[in-house]
Amino acid sequence: EHQETISVQACIDYALRLFQSRIREGNITIIQNWPEETLWVKGDLVRLEQVLVNLIGNALQAMKAVPAPQLTLGAHTRQHHVIISVTDNGPGIPEEHLGHIFEPFFTTKAPGSGLGLGLSISSRIMDDLGGKLQATNQAGGGACFTITLPHSTFTQ
Ligand code: ADP
Ligand code: MG
Repeated sequence: EHQETISVQACIDYALRLFQSRIREGNITIIQNWPEETLWVKGDLVRLEQVLVNLIGNALQAMKAVPAPQLTLGAHTRQHHVIISVTDNGPGIPEEHLGHIFEPFFTTKAPGSGLGLGLSISSRIMDDLGGKLQATNQAGGGACFTITLPHSTFTQ
């Protein structure tokens, strides 16, 4: 298993950059909520990026019909953990789906537009990194996915 010290903010920035043109074309407002100081976690950079890309991709798809789409990315520490959140203002996740979205091949998307693997792979990756991935709905509508990872200090 490849392990390195990862800057959470750099990782989110990288994932966002992949969606730059979709964000611009969709007039998506991006809100970034994180502290000035770099938050470090340990793990495989490529795999954490993959999780963020999955979550951001889902959020953008969920906001397709929203008049004022808003994507909020957050990161903060709580006790010995770093919490990363990806929040959208789309329709949210129906209560009856909340217990199933992390299952392989669960999808509500049209054939060809979603395989239903993104979240199951993402939660597996988080388990391997010693963290977890959770989904909730926001009180005002929209979905919120949170990643919890052990906080690390910088080491070479
Ligand atoms: P896929 O994107 O291929 O459908 P995922 O595993 O990424 O597969 O997601 C599974 C399902 O979870 C989606 O089909 C959708 O029903 C639901 N979902 C995921 N993210 C969101 C979101 N941000 N808002 C609403 N529903 C979501
Ligand atoms: Mg997906």
